[in-house]
Amino acid sequence: MEIPKQYDPKEAEQHHYERWEKNGFFAPEINQDPGAPVFSIVIPPPNVTGSLHMGHALQHTLMDVMTRHKRMCGYRTLWLPGMDHAGISTQLMVSRALKKEGKTRHDLGREKFIERVWQWKRESGGQITVQMRREGASVDWSREKFTMDEDLSRVVREVFVRLYEEGLIYRGNRIVNWCPEDQTVLSDLEVEKLPQAGKLYYLQYPIKNSDRRVTVATTRPETMLGDTAVAVNPSDDRYRELVGQTIMLPLTGREIPVIADEYVDPEFGTGAVKITPAHDPNDYEMGLRHHLPQVVVIDSYAKMTADAGADFLGLDRYKARDKVVADFEALGLLERVVDYEFSISKCERCKQVIEPLISTQWFMKMDQLRDLALGLMAREDKPKFVPETPYKKVYTDWLENLRDWTISRQLWWGHQIPAWYTPGGDVIVARSEDEARAKAGTSEVTQDPDVLDTWFSSALWPFSTLGWPNDSEDLITFYPTSVLVTARDIIFLWVSRMVMMGMKFIDKEPFADVFITGTILDAQGQRMSKTKMNGVDPIDVFNKFGVDATRLTLAQVGSTDTRWNEKQVESYRNFANKIWNAARFCLLNSEGAEVKPEILEQSTALHDRWIVSRLNKTARDLNAAIDAYEFHGAVQTLYHFFWDDFCDWYIELAKADVTAEQPSTEARTRLLTVLEQALRLLHPFMPYITEELWQRLPGDKHLHPAYQNAEPTVMLTAYPEGAASLIDEAAESQMQAIIELISRVRNIRSEMNIKPAERIPIVIAAPDESLRRVFSAAREQISRLVRASEVSVIGRLEAPKASARAVLSGGAELAVPLEGLIDFEQERRRLQREQEKLQAEAAKLEAQLSNPNFVSRAPVERVSEVRDRIAAIAQQSSQLQQTVENLQ
Ligand SMILES: [Zn+2]
Repeated sequence: MEIPKQYDPKEAEQHHYERWEKNGFFAPEINQDPGAPVFSIVIPPPNVTGSLHMGHALQHTLMDVMTRHKRMCGYRTLWLPGMDHAGISTQLMVSRALKKEGKTRHDLGREKFIERVWQWKRESGGQITVQMRREGASVDWSREKFTMDEDLSRVVREVFVRLYEEGLIYRGNRIVNWCPEDQTVLSDLEVEKLPQAGKLYYLQYPIKNSDRRVTVATTRPETMLGDTAVAVNPSDDRYRELVGQTIMLPLTGREIPVIADEYVDPEFGTGAVKITPAHDPNDYEMGLRHHLPQVVVIDSYAKMTADAGADFLGLDRYKARDKVVADFEALGLLERVVDYEFSISKCERCKQVIEPLISTQWFMKMDQLRDLALGLMAREDKPKFVPETPYKKVYTDWLENLRDWTISRQLWWGHQIPAWYTPGGDVIVARSEDEARAKAGTSEVTQDPDVLDTWFSSALWPFSTLGWPNDSEDLITFYPTSVLVTARDIIFLWVSRMVMMGMKFIDKEPFADVFITGTILDAQGQRMSKTKMNGVDPIDVFNKFGVDATRLTLAQVGSTDTRWNEKQVESYRNFANKIWNAARFCLLNSEGAEVKPEILEQSTALHDRWIVSRLNKTARDLNAAIDAYEFHGAVQTLYHFFWDDFCDWYIELAKADVTAEQPSTEARTRLLTVLEQALRLLHPFMPYITEELWQRLPGDKHLHPAYQNAEPTVMLTAYPEGAASLIDEAAESQMQAIIELISRVRNIRSEMNIKPAERIPIVIAAPDESLRRVFSAAREQISRLVRASEVSVIGRLEAPKASARAVLSGGAELAVPLEGLIDFEQERRRLQREQEKLQAEAAKLEAQLSNPNFVSRAPVERVSEVRDRIAAIAQQSSQLQQTVENLQ
């Protein structure tokens, strides 16, 4: 059997994926069982501008593990891929490219600009789909979707029209978050609130026909030019007689009233607050309650308007602030200025300070939709969040406080709002321009220039991708989907909106479960970010360690925030090499043998019954762990089984039989068969190496019955279920006793510095007769694995003097007589020196720890490393002590 000495991940990654995709293995149609259960996932569509980052790689790995596992369990599986048009990001990127040519999007005009975006999309969009192929993601590319595809755009218009007709979408003049840089409105979720060190200005406003002044405190003095009232709390005695009086608003010549409103906090500032309905969301609400005029003094570029007065017209808002303050000071009306920390709203994308502006926009009423989502949670406890804490509460709390959603954006790239205006000013909402003309009774209609928030189409993703509003086969088969895998920062932006829209239009939840992944942090525990340049590129990691090793590292992250640690990937690369070498050993010793599943049921030797039991128990535990989303545990279980049980013990125990001059075909067959099942268990996590090796195994390797006619591939074999009948607890505990014994003897050999070639006598004392039988039966294997000259198994220990001893579980004892094997005096001295060295090291570390400078200044990891090392020394030292005593 030809097999290269070294595993070459790149080689395997290149050709297997292509073959899987070409053969249609990823499509649900590969499943020929009409009664197959269904498993489906829609991918969180990455931005068309995006390239693969660690967050994607993590999500994709977990989704792929689940999809491959379920496919091997015989499910009709669909993992549906696609991309998001990502309104602002894409528009900005293409605008930037235009800027290099000295042009703006306005030079091109809307139509040409959008053409340009499509051209860019065809040429360089979707780099991520190439990278996903490298990841091994088993998505069904034949169903790939893009949120701007015609069929998905049709769904967007359909939903818009239906919600409008029900009165859930409306057009209104409201105060919104405006980004003066991007020139668009933003939803509350696209705005970051950040702490800001600023100033609080105390301004005095004179009262008409009185000497009295009222002082108001503000962080934004420039907005006073748009004040239309001063408000106080009705229960505030300080101001009771002022309510109803008139204020001469400085710098403007306007007169404004003093009003009373419960919302005013008497504790803030002076207890009297200026009210600027056009430039503050809370003042806006209060203005509506009291029918106050809205004086707009700041425009969409954050410059002062004519209504701010001739002295201010055209000034930038911050210049205007300085001028207002200077003018107040000159008038003797600036009472004081104090340092003040408050929270400021910034555009999440460009970091420009948001200007609250009154503007005509489209909104979605959320009350009814919110109640659908909350009702689903209350009635059926769906969707099920994993982990439940804290995400279930985060989700429901947010829903309970939900406000109307601003859905229009002043952009060109996106779904243009399906609303048309007649010359008479009527608004016609329709599915197409033709429909709008027909409804309007005139062909002179103009479409609203705005587009919808990108998240509007994302909210429809689970059903727009499956053919809604038609009762398509896909919609009936794959909706609701099984699970959504996503990051915690889009629970509001995306998860909740999909639930609301799914309930509204399909009357069923879009997914049963929501798995929230952990976050991969950099080595210092910081979030990876483009601006900090501290991100790790998954492609680099693939190139360095292979995709399989990277996937294993990511899978075990699961839902826990984890610092990136390349050592971990390296250790899984070593694991991949271990798998390769073990398989290579099996293949090099496979002549005359082949994979034959029946053989596992016919094992008589202890080590054979043991490995079959371990294999089945591992399979059982893995199925349970994957179904419960316990990916970390699943990886540990696999690793332990393959490395410890299979490689370190089983291959060693079976070696004599499979490599003998007259090798046992049965032993070789069993070894190959166990290996074949182990590869199947590993496959969802490590798809490439398992396929590479599985293809080389000789014999009758069955596919799962649902895929009988497919080309041979490990990805369509049956995932081992873990047969209860093959789990043999007695064999496991007996084998455990032998493993413990061998490990102890090996420890003694190394502690006592016994030369590897030296054969040693060992004495095993077990009062329990059945345990004695176990040791006696395994005498030959024990002897081979510890290089024993003699293995005696007795009932009670009467060890000769100068024996190394160990107590085993089950009341057994072990003695290794050392007379003649080592020079006792020399050995005692060596151990003594070792002991002294350890003590010296411990003393040094203790001194370090008792130095307050070290503890307070060194990185936390370093301090805990020192503590761990001290503990390890204590342990080693007491073992050494035991060894020295044994030599007496
Ligand atoms: Zn912005």
